Amino acid sequence: MPNALVWFRNDLRLADNPALQATLRAGFDPVPVYIHAPDEEGDWAPGAASDAWRHRSLLALAADLRARGSRLQVFAGPTLATLQRLVAQTQAEAVFWNRRYEPAIESRDATIKRALRAAGARVESHAAALLVEPWQVQTRTGDPYRVFTPYWRSVLGQWRLPPSSEAPAQLPSPLVLADALAIDSLGLAPTRDWDRDFWKQWTPGEHGAQAAVQSFLAQALDGYRERRDRPDLAGTSRLSPHLHFGEIAPWRVVRMLDAIGAGEDRDACVRELGWREFAHHLLHHFPHTPGANFNPRFDGFPWAEPSAQQLQAWQRGRTGIPIVDAGMRELWHTGWMHNRVRMIVASFLTKNLRIHWQHGARWFWDTLVDADLASNTLGWQWVAGTGADAAPYYRVFNPVLQAQKFDPRGDYIARWVPELAPLAPAQRHQPWTGAVPRGYVEPMVDLAESRKAALDALARNGR
Ligand code: FAD
Repeated sequence: MPNALVWFRNDLRLADNPALQATLRAGFDPVPVYIHAPDEEGDWAPGAASDAWRHRSLLALAADLRARGSRLQVFAGPTLATLQRLVAQTQAEAVFWNRRYEPAIESRDATIKRALRAAGARVESHAAALLVEPWQVQTRTGDPYRVFTPYWRSVLGQWRLPPSSEAPAQLPSPLVLADALAIDSLGLAPTRDWDRDFWKQWTPGEHGAQAAVQSFLAQALDGYRERRDRPDLAGTSRLSPHLHFGEIAPWRVVRMLDAIGAGEDRDACVRELGWREFAHHLLHHFPHTPGANFNPRFDGFPWAEPSAQQLQAWQRGRTGIPIVDAGMRELWHTGWMHNRVRMIVASFLTKNLRIHWQHGARWFWDTLVDADLASNTLGWQWVAGTGADAAPYYRVFNPVLQAQKFDPRGDYIARWVPELAPLAPAQRHQPWTGAVPRGYVEPMVDLAESRKAALDALARNGR
């Protein structure tokens, strides 16, 4: 049978893989390839934590392909030239891939598609990462949505989920390409083992993703709506890196939720997946927003000039505000942070310290294993108050009240800031009300004063 390249990207799975399925359905022998080209991602080449995850996820995909008689062959970019060479070497008649939505990647892929087609190849890109393509829903006036609730209502009114499909049991053995690289040679794995604690709780790859859903359904779905805001409980799915790397299809997650039955926990979880969809809708329609305020009224906002010392205190979890420090240390040690705490640390940076959200977004980009241009941009602009459908800038989270409400016994704080563990639970939220324990720090800002300074800055900005 004729060959077709199946170009793997952020779709590192064999089940529910539309590009792979289409290749087989069209009667081609798939030649699975991966091309490493971080410099083609514009200003947002993947960060260190993403690379560490991708390394393991590629190894998992390679093993899964090998178990089916196939083989993942890995190359370094530039992508177009590499694909052209591979098409020639394998005499492939077609190239299939699943879509990505980051602006730099979208335009690169469009160029690649045109060039390959011009040379006579059949080229297909498929929908694999989302429940709804970003351009599939629009307002009555034909514009993109800017507010989540009507966006989501419109999605729910028209979505058609694909059926789940299992990974092929067997795949043809592809031509072996002499110049394929070892995954280890891509330089994705850290040279020093700063990521060693990550893998105590994460298993990158399709099997890890499916196990994560199973364990979420068995242990945390019940009560999810109530518990999802509690960082002290294992109350959420932790699926975000698996979804980002395409190790599981979002529609499989929805179908698995549906198989358990209707209910408010199921609806709350699907709604969170809806925020991920909305983030991609916004990124597609407003591609400048990773680097610029969605709301241009903030373009002249008097952000403070951050000192290296301030930024480092925030990054390392040494601000003296326990819930902020707990979150930043969780991020450093695990590559992930609970959503509620992401909001708290982002509010502290952009409001109490009045540091531009871009500084925070960049740090998250480098340290999160789920770093995702769409969701990270939405999250930061939402908290900073500069975004579409954002929390207004004047709504400044009080990190002590937030901690009291969502980490009532201070267990989460004690886990990540062990200096505070000996304190009574109520004191862990604000240790400065007594003697701050040795090894911990005094708050780097006064919460009330810095809140007032943020509101004054907002007034100066004319809002
Ligand atoms: P669950 O509560 O189990 O939710 C299920 C899935 O829904 C998640 O895996 C995720 O894919 C999606 N989801 C949930 N909440 C959101 C949300 N608010 N926005 C978009 N998708 C959501 N998420 C990322 O995947 N990558 C990022 O880079 C990212 N950066 C963020 C930055 C900030 C400042 C904030 C406030 C949020 C950010 N989020 C990001 C969203 C959210 O924090 C994570 O998706 C969530 O914490 C992942 O945990 P979970 O898988 O256990 O979520």
